[in-house]
Amino acid sequence: MNRKTETKILKDSFGRVVNNLRISVTDRCNFRCRYCMPEEGMVWLDKSELLSYEEIASLVHIFAGLGVNKIRLTGGEPLMRKDLYLLVEKIARNARIQDLALTTNGFFLADQALNLYKAGLRRVNISLDSLDAAKFKLMTRRDYYNKVWEGIEAVETLGIRPIKLNVVLIRGINDDEIPKFAQLARLKSYVIRFIEFMPIGSDDGWTIEKVVPSNEVIKTMEGHIGKKLVPIEYHGAQPADRYRFEDGVGEIGFISSVSEPFCDHCNRVRITSDGKLRTCLFSLAETDLKSLLRGGASDDEITARIVDAVWKKEEGHLINRPGFVRPERTMSQIGG
Ligand code: SAM
Ligand code: SF4
Repeated sequence: MNRKTETKILKDSFGRVVNNLRISVTDRCNFRCRYCMPEEGMVWLDKSELLSYEEIASLVHIFAGLGVNKIRLTGGEPLMRKDLYLLVEKIARNARIQDLALTTNGFFLADQALNLYKAGLRRVNISLDSLDAAKFKLMTRRDYYNKVWEGIEAVETLGIRPIKLNVVLIRGINDDEIPKFAQLARLKSYVIRFIEFMPIGSDDGWTIEKVVPSNEVIKTMEGHIGKKLVPIEYHGAQPADRYRFEDGVGEIGFISSVSEPFCDHCNRVRITSDGKLRTCLFSLAETDLKSLLRGGASDDEITARIVDAVWKKEEGHLINRPGFVRPERTMSQIGG
């Protein structure tokens, strides 16, 4: 046995331990967020190409045996996949999974939240890029602002906590709403998480000028509220990604992938809806787990392929540096 397989943990060649798996359950979406996919021309995977819930549960079992204890379901829009609560139920039954979360655009939440909750879902991130219906439409190319709020209120009523609201800022479009988001975080128990705009896919219009760096968001919020944002979580020597206002009211999170990449303590890998393992959001290579599953490979064989792929996990992404190559798949196809 070599040093990659002797322990039941997933480790890469830089010593990072992977315990966090993001699973995309579909590439389809009923929104067309301008930073994620083009308005027209998306070609969806055939249903037969998607991993079945049984196949996903088998992979979860294998990953859990390798120390993965955090799972996030995403997409595309995960709630477009029929009866997602059935998958939640299967994963929630796995005693090794301590944290099961969902990232959704919120559109179907009002209808599905109760079933998801009963199936064991306790953590939800909802994307909400604007607090203004017209601007929301500009960002998502859909007039669904009120429907998303119905979804947020549905999970709130059920007692699902924390409710995290994901915000992608694009300079010149919604960066003027930073103060409103600060106020919302202080008024309600929602955690507002700013995700820096990243270059993925070929048609997202990304330029570095459109990225609003986290330190700018912090300054704007502090100036508006008149209170400091104090870090509440550090990653070793890295800057914090969770902050709270100094009076203890209002939590703000930052995913500063562009301005302060967190690659050197990245603990996550992804599976696309068509069953490809990606060891980085920006990977240019994938490992085809679906073919192994459908070709009758044993759990040990699949484990060996996963261990090998994770060992080769990329050191980090090169966004905005020479040598950066944009992945061809859109964020919705990879699973954000
Ligand atoms: N449809 C669901 C949603 O929107 O929440 C889940 C999938 S979506 C791809 C997951 C997250 O990725 C969302 O919070 C979205 O805002 C974010 N995202 C998509 N494209 C992005 C980009 N180019 N840069 C930064 N975040 C992005
Ligand atoms: Fe759909 Fe989510 Fe992409 Fe928006 S960010 S287009 S909701 S997958």
